[in-house]
Amino acid sequence: LVARMRPFGTSIFAEMSALAVRTGAVNLGQGFPDTDGPPEMLAAAEAALRGGRNQYPPGPGIPELRAAVARHQRRFWDLGYDPDGEVLITAGATEAIAATILALCEPGDEVVCFEPFYDSYAASIALAGAVRRPVTLFPDESGRFVFDPDRLRAAFSGRTRLVLLNSPHNPTGKVFSPAELSLIAALCRENDVYAVTDEVYEHLVFTDSGAPHVPLATLDGMRDRTLRISSAGKTFSCTGWKIGWVSGPKDLISAVMRVKQFLTFVNGGPFQPAVAVALDLPDTYYRDFRDGLQARRDRLADGLARAGLRVLPSEGTYFITADVSSTGTADGIAFCRELPERAGVAAIPTQVFYDDPEPARTLVRFAFCKREEVIDEAVRRLAGP
Ligand code: PMP
Ligand code: GLN
Repeated sequence: LVARMRPFGTSIFAEMSALAVRTGAVNLGQGFPDTDGPPEMLAAAEAALRGGRNQYPPGPGIPELRAAVARHQRRFWDLGYDPDGEVLITAGATEAIAATILALCEPGDEVVCFEPFYDSYAASIALAGAVRRPVTLFPDESGRFVFDPDRLRAAFSGRTRLVLLNSPHNPTGKVFSPAELSLIAALCRENDVYAVTDEVYEHLVFTDSGAPHVPLATLDGMRDRTLRISSAGKTFSCTGWKIGWVSGPKDLISAVMRVKQFLTFVNGGPFQPAVAVALDLPDTYYRDFRDGLQARRDRLADGLARAGLRVLPSEGTYFITADVSSTGTADGIAFCRELPERAGVAAIPTQVFYDDPEPARTLVRFAFCKREEVIDEAVRRLAGP
């Protein structure tokens, strides 16, 4: 194995899901829904499978999906992208992130990102031979994750190539505020660097979070320096389909396309027309989807609190954080490794997403994208006899 990949072992999601299966634990670790997405989308996939759409789709993605992706961004965020040249369909957001970094970063270039970061970020940066410059998110007294603006400013250097931003944020459930986004945008402009935004949870910002989701690309001077990434997996509950996309100015999309064509060439033939149908669903679909997740967030938060854990606020995503120090544990990794055996529940230690785990030693991420009865069973088990 090449040296730059040696620090990366088995992903925490694979490890904890395998442990959950082995022990029969309720899996609130890996973030995937346990119900299917919209029936219109499933019917469209079935029709495509039986309708002869099983060969290589066009490299950038089928035209009807690229058009639907462009329409969707116009409808929700008032962002205009030309479906021919400014939208590229990828194998999930994961490939979009990897191909974007590989397309833009020379070895030694620096990527500013916020830790805790989604696990593929560090690996994709390493694959490119680039260097990550993490800025730490830590909970303030209210439990909301914040960062030190001076630390962000100091993370930029002459080698900075891009900022990689995930909002709504996995694993913390943080939604970056308009003021935080303005600062990030200002630093991108001042330092003349690109922004790559991972917005896979764009439709999961909860109504009590205080602010709506704001794509960084909508801020002054940002559209032409931002590659905006999203995916069908979360919004349409089909994480196994791996249909994602990246939108941005033509020259940047064309660079990402160059890399993508040699990673996977194309992907998900019969799923692409189905996701096009899903993107065009009426606003009520998106509202009900969010309201459903918000109710399950509240259900799990109440249960975790009843089980004696301190629950931090979650403003969006599939995830909520609990501080498990009240159980006498000093280490969230040890806690999560023994929880399936001891209590029959699986969760993810937040600290594994940090280079410097200090602010998150006793924090644990629980997924609430599960049926109510599954959440209730997990809570019963956590509360103990
Ligand atoms: N980014 C974040 C923040 C995620 O949570 C996930 C999925 N868990 C991804 C990217 C990957 O998305 P996809 O499955 O579409 O590759
Ligand atoms: N995005 C999901 C999570 O954060 C799972 C991703 C994965 O399994 N690679 O839990």
